[in-house]
Amino acid sequence: MVVGAGPSGSISAYLSAKKGYKTLILDMKDFPRYKACGGGVTWRAYNFLRGLGILIRSLEAYHREVLIRGFGEEVRVSSDSEEFAVATMEREKFDEELLGEAIGQGAEFRRLKVRGVIQREAGVGLNGIGIKARYAIGADGAYSLTANSSGIRRWSDEDLIFAIEGRAPPHDELTFIVDASPSGYGWIFPRGGDSNAGVGGAVSRSRDVMMAFERFSKLYGVRMVGSWVIPTGGHGKPIARGRVLLVGDSAGLADPLTGEGLYYAFRSAYECVNSLESEDPASSYHERMRDVLDELKLKRMARRIIVPRMDFFFRAFASYPEIARRYMLTSIGKLDFREFWSWGLLRIPRAILRRALRASERKLLRMILQGTGDHPR
Ligand SMILES: Cc1cc2nc3c(=O)[nH]c(=O)nc-3n(C[C@H](O)[C@H](O)[C@H](O)COP(=O)(O)OP(=O)(O)OC[C@H]3O[C@@H](n4cnc5c(N)ncnc54)[C@H](O)[C@@H]3O)c2cc1C
Repeated sequence: MVVGAGPSGSISAYLSAKKGYKTLILDMKDFPRYKACGGGVTWRAYNFLRGLGILIRSLEAYHREVLIRGFGEEVRVSSDSEEFAVATMEREKFDEELLGEAIGQGAEFRRLKVRGVIQREAGVGLNGIGIKARYAIGADGAYSLTANSSGIRRWSDEDLIFAIEGRAPPHDELTFIVDASPSGYGWIFPRGGDSNAGVGGAVSRSRDVMMAFERFSKLYGVRMVGSWVIPTGGHGKPIARGRVLLVGDSAGLADPLTGEGLYYAFRSAYECVNSLESEDPASSYHERMRDVLDELKLKRMARRIIVPRMDFFFRAFASYPEIARRYMLTSIGKLDFREFWSWGLLRIPRAILRRALRASERKLLRMILQGTGDHPR
């Protein structure tokens, strides 16, 4: 049984039905339904789905180049090949398509609001409803009742990003604006006939994020559509217990630096369903996810270092475009984040130092010129 028919739930149900398991997928909403999201699909998320045999038709635009701007600087980075870096879509269509893939494999969809799960020795039941299953995959998003009712975990403020999304006019380039929000960033993702645009930041600073959105919406003509949280703390908490296994946002598996959740939704669904074959699926799932959880842990540490000093880091990035290029390649999954981090451990401080030296050279030159009464042309 899969609770929630968003991307992580539908891919879990697709894979489970494909393996021949009798699969029930439940959602409290009928599809298509709205879900707050930027609608950005990284190359790695797309490619992962392709590897599972799903070729997405609802993608609307493909962007090879990404513009990152802020603090008076701009960097353009492009994917290393002919392939796109980020494609864009509308979640209503995308999620409906993924659910269709699950149903196409034989999963049964039912509209039902789940109030909680009860674990028993021989299986899992739903609170107040006579539905039973051998396993429950919790794919019911950020405020997962499956996770809460089975006592697997709860979030703290540091685990959550708050994000507001809206519609904006068509825009030439896929753009990240790193000074749009005090504890996060703004985005403009052009699609077919318009753009998805918004800002995100720490949930503990949600008032600042709302004020940032006000400014951002005036600047780029954005009409607010919705807001929601992105949970990123799953790497430090259990993601399964007994017969209940959590995937996607329910497990808190979004990228703490970018808020990307789709790749992790697909990847966790894949590892989760494959672990059902084992004697102890919960341990096997933790084991299979170890690499991903380690990567997310490192990204959380990087967030703590980078985000409060974004101006400082972004200026260094801008003065050393190879850092920005490699960072982008990690974000779209073409370069491992751990590789980037160890490569950058020497280069990033060097770039910062070089920038600081250049600034003090300029200051010194200004002082000398002022002293001699001479002025640069
Ligand atoms: C503003 C914003 C922008 C974002 N932009 C991006 C982006 O550009 N790219 C990216 O990769 N990620 C982005 N994310 C993150 C991404 O949206 C999530 O990581 C992704 O939706 C997780 O998928 P999921 O299936 O785990 O959960 P969800 O998509 O939240 O699906 C959960 C499903 O469970 C159902 N449900 C919930 N409770 C119950 C219940 N009690 N009973 C039955 N059904 C229930 C819901 O109706 C829903 O259909 C963004 C998030 C936000 C908030």
